[in-house]
Amino acid sequence: MKSFEKTGESVWKKGTDVLLDLLFPPTCEICHQVQQQGRYLCEHCNKNLPRIAEPCCEKCGEMFEGNIQSSFVCPNCAGLDYAFSFARPVLDCSDAARELIHHFKYSRAIHLARDLASIAAEAFDDPRFQRALEQRWPLVPVPLHWRRRQHRFFNQSEEIARHLGKMLDLPVVPALKRIRATETQTHLSRKKRLQNLRGAMQLSRHGKTLLRKNPPAGAVLIDDVFTTGATVHECAKILHANRFENVVVVTVMRG
Ligand SMILES: [Zn+2]
Ligand SMILES: [Zn+2]
Repeated sequence: MKSFEKTGESVWKKGTDVLLDLLFPPTCEICHQVQQQGRYLCEHCNKNLPRIAEPCCEKCGEMFEGNIQSSFVCPNCAGLDYAFSFARPVLDCSDAARELIHHFKYSRAIHLARDLASIAAEAFDDPRFQRALEQRWPLVPVPLHWRRRQHRFFNQSEEIARHLGKMLDLPVVPALKRIRATETQTHLSRKKRLQNLRGAMQLSRHGKTLLRKNPPAGAVLIDDVFTTGATVHECAKILHANRFENVVVVTVMRG
């Protein structure tokens, strides 16, 4: 299967990166201590970001307190028929995590992509991803409309997916595209978000090529934050309609 990520960095680029690190040493985004080798989050600050741990909803990762032994579905997800099997966010919502992602997305802090991807990679320790890893399912970033991408300079999900693909040796396929610009979702309810997204996505040229050449059994949707699940649901719906049997979701944080 063809991977759509750039293969191999040139010696020139690596040399430039080393030089830039010497001239402007990278600092941790949270504690501002000088870092090594292009890292922007120190080990200490990374460890301090609270992770999602059990007991948590098996569909959306929402954490619950108490002694719950068996797997369960939270009241938010109970009545919903998601088009994806489950979503696995890694970070619980904390001020530090929220600020980090906000900064990444809205202040063009693209340099944080690798650190955020290495956090997202922890999701794959969940045994439910075993098939995805064994069968090398493609990582499919949630698409941005070209106009928003132009404004933001990059698609945050694509950047995370690109680094994740390298870390896990999985193909990255931008199989979806947004054909309609949607208003910002931040303050909308789940119902309004779903209405807002209707007909906004389509299979991309890359998605069609993938299906024609070597259709995979499943796909892993990649996004930065899981909030109501409306966006990844809409993406999974399109993938399902195009013969991707199993769609699972990985996000950096549970919003
Ligand atoms: Zn730090
Ligand atoms: Zn849930």
